[in-house]
Amino acid sequence: MIQENLQKILANIPEGVTLLAVSKTKPESDILEAYNYGIRNFGENKVQEMVGKYENLPKDIKWHLIGHLQTNKVKYMASFVSLIHSVDSLNLLETINKEAVKVNRVIPCLLQFHIASEETKFGLSEDEAYALLESDSYKAMKNVEICGVMGMATNTENMDVVRSEFKHLKQIFDNLHEKYFAASTTFKTISMGMSHDYQIAIEEGSTIVRIGSSIFGERNYNV
Ligand SMILES: *Cc1c(COP(=O)(O)O)cnc(C)c1O
Repeated sequence: MIQENLQKILANIPEGVTLLAVSKTKPESDILEAYNYGIRNFGENKVQEMVGKYENLPKDIKWHLIGHLQTNKVKYMASFVSLIHSVDSLNLLETINKEAVKVNRVIPCLLQFHIASEETKFGLSEDEAYALLESDSYKAMKNVEICGVMGMATNTENMDVVRSEFKHLKQIFDNLHEKYFAASTTFKTISMGMSHDYQIAIEEGSTIVRIGSSIFGERNYNV
């Protein structure tokens, strides 16, 4: 079933858009099934769960942290995480930089933006991002690399709302690109789109879609 789902989804994803298979709460056997179909990018929202899976599964998997991240958890994944999608404060970015120094890496990160109407979703405002990027602390960081933006649309059936939120995130990306990253060759990622809205996200400029339940089936508990 997982491989059939992947076949269908991959047929809908154009070249240049990466499929991130969101495997949170799912067993390692499910991940291996997707891996054996050729998937290499997997997303988790809990650091402990990601570390356990990293230890047991093939080492050429690229692990993405997509969930809200607490500073005290960064150290457990600094040595191997491929992309952190959920940077939502200067304080968190400082911690990522500090832990990256210890393991002698540059860790790729995305700034997460609050684009949904729900209060509960994490993320920066555009002004907060400007303040972060203009801070002396950020300018001194050598071991993090901001590669783009991430956002989650409102959980609604109204696809006009979803589309306008994705347009907003693309606009933020374009603004940041022009203002701060015009000379960068690595600021090019827009992580947006989930199982129910990834086609709209791709139409609006997504470069990474984060898809869980459409690949692995519904999760047993809501996370
Ligand atoms: C769980 C999760 C997804 C995947 O959601 P599905 O609806 O199962 O595709 C994508 N992004 C984030 C941040 C998530 O937490």
